[in-house]
Amino acid sequence: MQSLDFSCYRNIVILTGAGVSAASGIRPFRGQEGLWNEINPLKSADSSVLQTNPLAIWQLFGTLRTQLETAQPNAAHLTLAKFEAGFSSSQQFTLITQNIDGLHQRAGSRNVIELHGNVNYTRCSNPTCSLTAYLDKSPHKDLLPICQLCNYPLRLDIVLFGEQIPAKKEWLAKRSLRDCDLFIAIGTSGTVWPAANFVRSANYVGAKTIFINLEPMKPKNPYFQEEYLGRAEELLPLLFNIDVTPH
Ligand SMILES: [Zn+2]
Repeated sequence: MQSLDFSCYRNIVILTGAGVSAASGIRPFRGQEGLWNEINPLKSADSSVLQTNPLAIWQLFGTLRTQLETAQPNAAHLTLAKFEAGFSSSQQFTLITQNIDGLHQRAGSRNVIELHGNVNYTRCSNPTCSLTAYLDKSPHKDLLPICQLCNYPLRLDIVLFGEQIPAKKEWLAKRSLRDCDLFIAIGTSGTVWPAANFVRSANYVGAKTIFINLEPMKPKNPYFQEEYLGRAEELLPLLFNIDVTPH
């Protein structure tokens, strides 16, 4: 496969989804292989469960925390980190991700907007509490952790069903799209939010738009100009012409 020439772009926005983390052993929530086919998200990942059974949320996502102790960033994460590292000071690069695993940062990506939060962080469920989100390795699957400042239950720093994307993150994502000249969606559906909305914005400002995913778009989203199909960890090093093999 021929690599693409990205050298003429000055303001690049990349959106990633579950397809980027699949090769790291992180199971997707949605789609054919998705966890939501086996687990009812309304009983373990809905914001209403914070009131009724908050430990159920820890039990579900605590497993992911444990997996992430040993999971490693794959060639897709490493390619995007190296791509960003090669940028000049006159270029802008924004990586927006739907993933909550933190693997982009572990691979070395710097300007990352985590739309749905990060499962590795814990915060207080009391919106007026002054506790800031902190890195926490414990899965808390057996005992509901309690905030030492206000005695409310602690929660994962992720966006649950029924919750909104934090305003700042949404604003940062929209701002990056406002003047981008290249938008690439990787490992996510091109026909639903956020990719479908983001590509529409990028197309409106005249950006080049590219879709990279294992599955083709169904139906095809006309705002994407190019489509490349395959596994992210195989396609990205080729398309971006970046060597991520360990030396
Ligand atoms: Zn608190």
